[in-house]
Amino acid sequence: MQDNYKFGTKAIHAGADADPSTGAIMTPIFQTSTYVQESPGVNKGYGYARGKNPTREALQKNIAALENGKHCVCFSSGMGAIDAVIRMLRPGDEVITGDDLYGGSYRIFTKIYENYGIKFHFINLTDTNNIQKYINTNTKLIWVETPTNPTMQIIDIVSCSAISKSNKILLAVDNTFASPFLQNPLELGADIVMHSATKYLGGHSDVVMGALIMNDDKIHEQIYFILNSCGANPGPMDCFLVMRGIKTLHLRMERHCFNGRKVAEYLKTHPKIEKVYWPGFTDHPNHEIAKKQMRDFGGMISIVLKDKTIENTFKVASSFHVFSLAESLGGVESLINHPATMTHASIPKLEREKSGVVDNLLRLSVGVEDIDDLLSDLKQALE
Ligand SMILES: *Cc1c(COP(=O)(O)O)cnc(C)c1O
Repeated sequence: MQDNYKFGTKAIHAGADADPSTGAIMTPIFQTSTYVQESPGVNKGYGYARGKNPTREALQKNIAALENGKHCVCFSSGMGAIDAVIRMLRPGDEVITGDDLYGGSYRIFTKIYENYGIKFHFINLTDTNNIQKYINTNTKLIWVETPTNPTMQIIDIVSCSAISKSNKILLAVDNTFASPFLQNPLELGADIVMHSATKYLGGHSDVVMGALIMNDDKIHEQIYFILNSCGANPGPMDCFLVMRGIKTLHLRMERHCFNGRKVAEYLKTHPKIEKVYWPGFTDHPNHEIAKKQMRDFGGMISIVLKDKTIENTFKVASSFHVFSLAESLGGVESLINHPATMTHASIPKLEREKSGVVDNLLRLSVGVEDIDDLLSDLKQALE
């Protein structure tokens, strides 16, 4: 595997050397908890499987290559990965983050880590000039999600990284929505990239997993220490599934982007729709930044219905035949989600409405089905 291979080649081959004992082209699922030692302490580099597993290592090499990063550590879920980053902090430390976050991120920050004395500032990051006034000597981390979930705001990663570097603060970017196919935050100055591999990386809605990617050896050492100490390690079968899914990431993403554009354009002029959130529109407030830091605009779209009643929103959400009503995103199948009662239900109503997550907002994860069937399904559901 050469470092200069292009994305699609890396997706298929990075970390995926043929098995030396058999020549198997697919990475074996090393379903083992421990490894035999020749004499105490003398082993083949593997002691106990919470720490290391060859299937996991193959996947980590693969994901690191896709993010053009040096190291990757995989976790049993995206939340396990986020948890590991926050465990790098100490009581009294402060974090600056966005006001439009994945509901689970908001929940772990406020309901778990505020109890441990870590302070979180939820601010509007679309204008990075807002950041400086929240920085003090306790500030240790800026946590960015872009595009944001579900209102598809775009946060300027280069600008965040300039601020984090000049203040010696870590910058972590949740890259789940964009996937490494569309955006590589390490190259834009981030210190840590986080993925819920459950979404686009896995891509088939059959596994839950998380990943952290970083260049810095010390950060890697610390994160790996946390993984091994706290135990949110993924199982080998799950690692195999994500690695198998990634082999078609580039193909799936091309179709997600193509279908996403068609759906966004169709919905933009629809008489029942008030607003469409999608960063590919030239009138999206941060479209120019999206164009700069992303290669395309993806298949995540949120819509606000003109009819504000929750009854109508529920009726629309339940009227689809091709789209399925479900949480999650990034799989081959199209999904529709009602953030206010599903993915973002853990955020208080006032907070969530401030960031635009109103009762008449629906989020679409546009899959890779035939576009004609997706458009007909939207047409009949909105009638
Ligand atoms: C799903 C998701 C997470 C959490 O990941 P899990 O794999 O569900 O634990 C974090 N951030 C974003 C943006 C997500 O969509």
